[in-house]
Amino acid sequence: MTCEARAVEVQSSFERRRTRRINVGGVPVGGGAPITVQSMTTTRTADVEGTLQQIYDLASAGADIVRCTCNELEAAEGLAQIVPRSPVPIVADIHHQYRMALAALDAGVHCLRLNPGNIRKPEHIRAVASECRDRGVPIRIGVNGGSLHPDLYRKHGDRVTPEAMVESAQMELDFFREVDFDDVKISVKASSVPLMIEAYRQLSETTDHPLHLGVTEAGPPPVGLVKSTAGIAALLAEGIGDTIRYSLTADPVQEAKAGRQLLESMGLRERKNVDLIACPSCGRAEIDVYAVAEQAMEAFGDREIPLQVAVMGCVVNGPGEARGADIGIAAGNGRGHLFVRGRNVAVVAEQDMVQSLVQWAEMIHEHGAEAALAKADTVAAAREAERDRRRLLDKQGEDANQAEEKIEMIRKRV
Ligand code: SF4
Repeated sequence: MTCEARAVEVQSSFERRRTRRINVGGVPVGGGAPITVQSMTTTRTADVEGTLQQIYDLASAGADIVRCTCNELEAAEGLAQIVPRSPVPIVADIHHQYRMALAALDAGVHCLRLNPGNIRKPEHIRAVASECRDRGVPIRIGVNGGSLHPDLYRKHGDRVTPEAMVESAQMELDFFREVDFDDVKISVKASSVPLMIEAYRQLSETTDHPLHLGVTEAGPPPVGLVKSTAGIAALLAEGIGDTIRYSLTADPVQEAKAGRQLLESMGLRERKNVDLIACPSCGRAEIDVYAVAEQAMEAFGDREIPLQVAVMGCVVNGPGEARGADIGIAAGNGRGHLFVRGRNVAVVAEQDMVQSLVQWAEMIHEHGAEAALAKADTVAAAREAERDRRRLLDKQGEDANQAEEKIEMIRKRV
């Protein structure tokens, strides 16, 4: 078999670990709630219109919760205007200055993120936690391997270890408990994937607070995407994690999209947009599969059509190997063969392949696959597809990559 196209959509069977539930501005996190996607704005929070535009873009791309930095008084003032106009709950990111946490609470944010590595005075931590308790606002304890509390760093042999990160989170929780506050989610992020995986594993053994997953400073795509996916997906597959964030050196819209796609591809969130599958192309390909797949991605864009759509390079193997897709197209002899759930439904000119794919996808989305099949002349379409398949087989033979011919040549040389 030359294709690796997925044939059947398998729903997630990952058993999730039990955590308690917290509420971030109306979005539940933990306790069996759908895993949420988070991202962070890159604008100055004082720039209210610019930040709101980015929040709207992030929400459209799939972010359920958005974090904004609150690093200066102007940022807190900006949050007071941003929060009531935001389509999603807002988390204020606090470092070093506990007073900024209090200011963000005055601005009405739905959650705080505190870094225990840089807000260290117990009285400051307790003051923020007391205020959150009184207002019913949760906190994320955001431990970061790169900014671990210096005492813990020394205690653990001048190294950032999973144990040190978990201990940092536990110490912060202890301060919170002193003021009777435990409305908390926790993250123990590191830029090293093995380190963060082990830290989260250990943390999930010691607490039932919901966990926020991420690989910090993962870098620009594609390497940042690979690292983040490796760390987050490994943990999700073990049932660990209630909310996720990709930390990419890129437009944060990419973070939200990646988070959403990861959850959808693991069957952990309902599909919102098209799941485009495409064959990797090979010697049989009758079209430029990369270009057509790219055009199809662009044509579907962010449209909310939750179908699996296949682009296959040839009619010899394409329809069979993508029979699990809701709709697909396979090229052959200058034509495109459309198929719905593995059954041929129409033949279109090669240049109309993408447009037809979108039209049929819209029809299926609106009326269902059965209605689309009932409307089609499946017998005629299958006959045409078989004709082109035969032609290709006659032309290319069974060995489309001419491997046998090449092997013969090699043997003659030696
Ligand atoms: S061109 Fe045909 S045989 Fe080759 S990978 Fe694509 S669908 Fe499979």
